[in-house]
Amino acid sequence: SRSTRQWQQADSAHFLHPFTDHAALARKGARIITRAEGIYLWDSEGHKILDAMSGLWCVNTGYGQQGLVDAATRQMQELPFYNAFFQTSTPPAIELAELLAEVTPPQFDKVFFTCSGSEGNDTVVRMVRHYWASLGQPQRRILISRHNGYHGSTMAGASLGGMSGMHAQGGLPIPDIHHIQQPHWFEHGQGQSREDFGLTAAHWLEDKILELGPERVAAFIGEPVQGAGGVIVPPSTYWPEIQRICDKYGILLVSDEVICGFGRTGQWFGCETMGTRPDLMTFAKGVTSGYVPLGGVMVSQRVSDVLASHGEFNHGFTYSGHPVACAVATANIRLIQQMNLVAHVRQNIGPYLAQRLQDVAAHPLVGEVQSCAMMAAVQLVQDKAKLQCFKPELEVGMLCRAHCFGNGLIMRAVGDRMIIAPPLVMSRAQVDEMVNLILHCLDLSLQELQQ
Ligand code: PLP
Repeated sequence: SRSTRQWQQADSAHFLHPFTDHAALARKGARIITRAEGIYLWDSEGHKILDAMSGLWCVNTGYGQQGLVDAATRQMQELPFYNAFFQTSTPPAIELAELLAEVTPPQFDKVFFTCSGSEGNDTVVRMVRHYWASLGQPQRRILISRHNGYHGSTMAGASLGGMSGMHAQGGLPIPDIHHIQQPHWFEHGQGQSREDFGLTAAHWLEDKILELGPERVAAFIGEPVQGAGGVIVPPSTYWPEIQRICDKYGILLVSDEVICGFGRTGQWFGCETMGTRPDLMTFAKGVTSGYVPLGGVMVSQRVSDVLASHGEFNHGFTYSGHPVACAVATANIRLIQQMNLVAHVRQNIGPYLAQRLQDVAAHPLVGEVQSCAMMAAVQLVQDKAKLQCFKPELEVGMLCRAHCFGNGLIMRAVGDRMIIAPPLVMSRAQVDEMVNLILHCLDLSLQELQQ
């Protein structure tokens, strides 16, 4: 095999990475990850790393699940590919569709398969507009989403997303997509109780609907807990009020469950944790635990009845319902069921993580810790008493991330918010190990800042 240096040279010569500063990459060289087991990764230098990000929020059942490998192997041997266009179907796609209808909330009876979360959200944009046009209301075209939300990297996904850095490249958003502010108490709500702020933030949706004209608004889309925006856990009052506002104006509610789905929040889906009843739901990532690419949109009867009676929905991907991906997803969901993983998160490991994060919250560098079962954010601050942040140009989050990287822990930095979303299969001893590593890396970061 090649040396790390050789891998890095070839990588920087030929591989244009997603979301990467290539000048920095060329200087430092990529970290080459070569294998994984359970919640751990190993790099090409043989270092063991605790993966507190589940890859990219997706390896819910952990690495090395032989059952998923076997499902893929069997399906590749039997029928590696067939499509679902033009009145054909395959057993693995049918079985997965049936199983998804079983594990998702009762309003969902059908699924549209995609290969990713981004494609799922693109599908949502076309589907809701087609839905309203079919009902004779083609003027209902607008989708509302939130600043700092993340809904993917396709044109529609990045438009729905509220990442200004993404909008700046490529002339986004596309027309008829509008944004409201995020329910981020730390940034926008201090001075109000969290509960009051939740209602204030939900009313930004109503204000926006009235500004645009309710008869023009097709849907509202949001992540139950914003992930890539920095694990923004909304106050408990937020989502029920959003639901009430959508109901009041007859607007479709779309839950982007790409991160929150498949157990991460302690229920099968984040909308169940937050108390909403969405009409559409996007998923990806955890559906296969990331072993193979698969995504989709769960469609409630309200929408599927209309779609079914208005001709053809001119939309689809070669790999919509890919047999191998579907076989792996079915094996993964069955594994979640057999391991009782959702209850493990809700009753055991989620509450234990929240308890252990109290130690992290007490650290002098930490202003607040927010968590929702198996996703959490640690806000780094300069002044703990005044909750005063560091100057952004100091890049304290990146400094802390580098200490994590050097000490066998993967955490993500969103500005100065340090993010974890570890595999759901963690034991209590592994939570202890992770929290001790976090505390150690916070100590090292503080030492460096005080030098
Ligand atoms: N939606 C959310 C909430 C996500 O976090 C992501 C990816 O991180 C996406 C959509 C896009 O999914 P994908 O990267 O599979 O296209």
